[in-house]
Amino acid sequence: MDKNTYLPFLLDTLRLLALTPSPTGMTAGIERQLMAALKETGLVPWQSRKGAVLARLNEGEGEGILLSAHIDTLGLMVRSVKANGRLRVTQLGGFPLQYAEQENVLVHTRDGKTIPGTLRMNQPAVHFNKDLRTAERNDESMEVVLDMRVSSKEECQALGVSAGDYISLDPRFVKSGDGFIKSRHMDDKASAAILISLARAFASGEASCRRPVYILFTNFEEVGHGASAGHPDGISDMIAVDMGVVGEDLSTDEMKVSICAKDSRGPYNRALTGALVDAAEKHGLDFAVDIYPFYGSDTDAALSAGHDYRHALIGPGVSASHGYERVHEDGLWNTLELLGHYLKTA
Ligand SMILES: [Zn+2]
Repeated sequence: MDKNTYLPFLLDTLRLLALTPSPTGMTAGIERQLMAALKETGLVPWQSRKGAVLARLNEGEGEGILLSAHIDTLGLMVRSVKANGRLRVTQLGGFPLQYAEQENVLVHTRDGKTIPGTLRMNQPAVHFNKDLRTAERNDESMEVVLDMRVSSKEECQALGVSAGDYISLDPRFVKSGDGFIKSRHMDDKASAAILISLARAFASGEASCRRPVYILFTNFEEVGHGASAGHPDGISDMIAVDMGVVGEDLSTDEMKVSICAKDSRGPYNRALTGALVDAAEKHGLDFAVDIYPFYGSDTDAALSAGHDYRHALIGPGVSASHGYERVHEDGLWNTLELLGHYLKTA
């Protein structure tokens, strides 16, 4: 694949995906965006009932290979409108609330309005709250304050806000110095952008595989059942493309493609994982093999649902995961390259 063509395309795609709110459960907008992006490459994508987006990349013969990435992200939901017109929230997906403290948010009401606000401590003023430094951050001590003139439950409800409304976090997408990208939700929009780039490479003939290759964008990964259903027939191997974990005794960093040998659910298929390591070594890619101590992937969801597959997990290194995350264009590129090289001889 020509880096001068595909890396800028990947980064532009990533930015567009990152700027589209898609907390788990509110993914219709990004599904439409994905369908359009895949149609633009000449593919004929389709959707499962629960909203996953799928496409077949080539003709191919024999047993299929399924590549997945997830397009849902962490977020919040209105739990209740408080008497003071502020919002008590509940989390969508797993993250400490302090990872979203002082973040700008958008409340998406059922009647289609988008109302800006901030998630912050109930008493956020340093000049007022002497316990601010040590106070526990939870859904009782924190609230969403809307940037609207509301001071009662009734006034807030009159805006159309109610329990069950989705709240998205400002991704704060920044292309920073030296090839780094800082943004929320690089888990797993980075991998989604990689798969769209791979689809384009298949369409232009710059990537190929003798077996049929399918891509699957799941929309309930952050709550555990993303890839549990809606698969095409004839698959024997599934590779989840999802964030690589960066941590003290691990070898992955943002510049590398990470290959996961074991996560909290157990080891990945040894032969398939080994073949991915072989491809990375053979082509001189910057990669790492790691154990992810607190992690479950879409392949875990697929196997738990009863799919009889060999499974593997690879992805670009993402630091500060589930917070204000950071990736590097080298890690994105190494992941795309690994998929391209592996599929060529799979
Ligand atoms: Zn993920």
